[in-house]
Amino acid sequence: MNIKKRILFPFALVAICQVQAQDAQMDAYVRDLMSKMTLDEKIGQLNQEAVSDGVLTGSVVQGGVSEKIAKGQVGSTFGIWGADKLRKLQDIAVKNSRLHIPLLFGLDVIHGHRTLFPIPLGISATWDLGLVEQSAQLAAKEATADGLKWVFSPMVDIARDPRWGRVSEGSGEDPFLGSLIAKAMVRGYQGKNLADSNTVLACIKHFALYGGAEAGREYNTVDMSPIKMYEYYLPPYKAAIDAGAASIMTSFNDLNGVPSTANRWLLTDLLRKEWGFKGLVVSDYTAVSELTAHGLGDLQTVSAKSLHAGLDMDMVSEGFLKTLPQSLKEGKVTMEEIDQACRRVLEAKYKAGLFADPYKYLNADRASKDILTAENRAVARKVAAHSFVLLKNANQVLPLKKIGTIALVGPLADSRRNMLGTWSVSGEWDKSVTVKEGLENAVNGKAKIIYAKGANISDDTTFNKKVNVFGEEISIDPKSPEALIQDAVDAAKQSDVVVAVVGEAADMTGESASRSNIDIPESQRNLLKALVATGKPVVAVLYNGRPLTLDWEDKNLNAILDVWFGGTEGGNAIADVLFGDYNPSGKLTLTFPRNVGQIPIYYNQKNTGRPYYEGQPTKFKSDYLDVPNTPLYAFGYGLSYTQFEYGTPTVSDENPKGNAPIQLKVTVKNTGKYAGEETAQLYVSDPVASVARSVIELKSFQKVFLKPGESRELSFIVNPDCLKFYNTDLKYDWEPGEFIFRVGGSSANTKSVRVNWTK
Ligand code: BGC
Repeated sequence: MNIKKRILFPFALVAICQVQAQDAQMDAYVRDLMSKMTLDEKIGQLNQEAVSDGVLTGSVVQGGVSEKIAKGQVGSTFGIWGADKLRKLQDIAVKNSRLHIPLLFGLDVIHGHRTLFPIPLGISATWDLGLVEQSAQLAAKEATADGLKWVFSPMVDIARDPRWGRVSEGSGEDPFLGSLIAKAMVRGYQGKNLADSNTVLACIKHFALYGGAEAGREYNTVDMSPIKMYEYYLPPYKAAIDAGAASIMTSFNDLNGVPSTANRWLLTDLLRKEWGFKGLVVSDYTAVSELTAHGLGDLQTVSAKSLHAGLDMDMVSEGFLKTLPQSLKEGKVTMEEIDQACRRVLEAKYKAGLFADPYKYLNADRASKDILTAENRAVARKVAAHSFVLLKNANQVLPLKKIGTIALVGPLADSRRNMLGTWSVSGEWDKSVTVKEGLENAVNGKAKIIYAKGANISDDTTFNKKVNVFGEEISIDPKSPEALIQDAVDAAKQSDVVVAVVGEAADMTGESASRSNIDIPESQRNLLKALVATGKPVVAVLYNGRPLTLDWEDKNLNAILDVWFGGTEGGNAIADVLFGDYNPSGKLTLTFPRNVGQIPIYYNQKNTGRPYYEGQPTKFKSDYLDVPNTPLYAFGYGLSYTQFEYGTPTVSDENPKGNAPIQLKVTVKNTGKYAGEETAQLYVSDPVASVARSVIELKSFQKVFLKPGESRELSFIVNPDCLKFYNTDLKYDWEPGEFIFRVGGSSANTKSVRVNWTK
């Protein structure tokens, strides 16, 4: 044993003993409490209510909650926040219910609570785990300052289909990056101690494989092979569990025929037995009662099936509350199953410190100190600027200079309502900074800005009505589309450059926002065409919660900056990047197709037996007649105002043996004019194996900041863990042979070195 291990060993032992002692205390407490509980009180703990004066995130909102709390029929609520409001509910639970069991208050805090960060897909594009963790930490701080102790985040569903609206809530298509982000979020939310006043219980969602919805249509069926599941879709859930996530939410979809919420293989065999998860399993919103529409039976039947499958808490359906007593009488569920679920709910409350002090997070003074502070806003601005991805920058039209005249046009240029993006239930859009304000703040009178709306987000009133369920995000201007465009063209003609802020309204993505056409809406494409016709350089600032099909824009516009939905400080962050106060460094985490016919398209695809290689005859090859196989913008892609050049990677040993790691080195040089940050990505290819493997897979990455002319040698320590894959027996291992390590600034642009690795 080396000295370090010798010193660490006693500490590690002490830590393990402490955890065991805490577990024993919790166990004794919960056991004692449960010995006093009636059957109905136990079942009451399994019931979660959506409180009616909050926001609606599903199709049902319950009434009579106070009475139910007093009767001990509610374990948790969600939908409202604020220490004063929640104190009233907690008072009922603690003072009026027979056993005084405190409530656990949850909410969809997805990308910030009251200070909003970029949408999760945007946060993932930072590839900056420190910023990811920090954003979750600040969200937890604001949430607890508002009385909350449980957030329904992170969403870790891998997705390869941009038609699905919820790709905006996840971290993209890659299991490796997705797993690191999942862990960072859990660390950020939960900190070191769940009972701290600034930490919340994380809830991983949606278990499982919700992102695999067929045709990208919301809530659709998922049918997946075991290898695909284990290799690409399950790792982020597992990673979040390994990081200690306190809870997990079931998904709406069925998986290979069995809906997740009643899927015993998923909730018990995989989650509990294989992965050792000890926390709380909650259903998604009315997911229990929806099992009836899935075809699994009436409310009593599906509630019994869900409990038996391993579900602990029923969100909104009241299936557990209303039917479990009868099911117990009829022998359809056992007392052990009810006890087990109840114990898990009570343990979550115990870990949250709620039995020690039910009012711990209900301190009304905190809101004014901890929420929407200058510090939180500064971090939100930084995360946003880091999340933007520069997709095109012909002739270095960006960064802009703070002189001359800028035409600022487009329906999203001055739309505060759309700044926060989807799932900002507690966000205050009226406190967000618009792009117009951001640009005006930045130029501070030194340049002239001429604003014109130019177009409606969409002219399709049927479509708009569907999008506007949470308020008027898309409005139809009293001016005609032609008159709007004319205003913008007039502004463009008087200007040196056009900044067109275009794309999707906030709720064109998120839940229940699938699109079969992912172009920029026609009204805005018409605007862009008219702007291009003026001959002025056109820079698109693109709002989107998913990859869009931008073939026309890529061919015709001078620059495209993808800003997702940047959150509270979006407008300022956009100005930071447009004017070069921050040099963009975001990289895509989800592939941008050329057209919807290419979907699903993702970087870690397989080769097929007839792969098509650029420049070869195409007949009898795996390709399309009418579109290339390649995406428009690949996973990992993103430009900077400067340029980075990669040397050829080298390895410390080209013929390594066994498990000892090797070192891979590569030099990155900033050959451009601006200081900037680059994300160097390391991929591996395994050309020969017992199963068909992905062409390349991400295995590591490093962010490096370089001044103009500066170069840095990066070193990656590589061991055979990164060569492992699931074989046909679902054994996770590596097979000896040749491997190709590739390094570069995008999955589509790498330099490589070969290694022959034997066991
Ligand atoms: C969503 C979940 C969310 C829940 C509670 C559901 O419709 O799928 O992601 O946490 O509502 O609002």
